[in-house]
Amino acid sequence: MLAAWIVRLLLYAVLAYVILSIIKGIAGSGRRSAPPPPRPAPLDTLVKDDVCGTYLPRRDSIRAVIDGQERFFCSQDCRKKAKDGGGPSQ
Ligand SMILES: [Zn+2]
Repeated sequence: MLAAWIVRLLLYAVLAYVILSIIKGIAGSGRRSAPPPPRPAPLDTLVKDDVCGTYLPRRDSIRAVIDGQERFFCSQDCRKKAKDGGGPSQ
């Protein structure tokens, strides 16, 4: 009866190997059929204008470094407001 036990163990080993190779095959074919985008274009990411709360694509925004922090604005007006009114304005 020891032989039957060994055969069963071998069967499980083969089964595990087959399942693993199937999983690998699915992962490989999935990668082939639907390639993930290489990298999100940084210019298309949305940035927030802190002054008026508008979200806009980074490409269309006005970038400014204020107090060592990179910030984005929808217009020159907002950029001016951020630069002038560092503290509580008005
Ligand atoms: Zn704005």
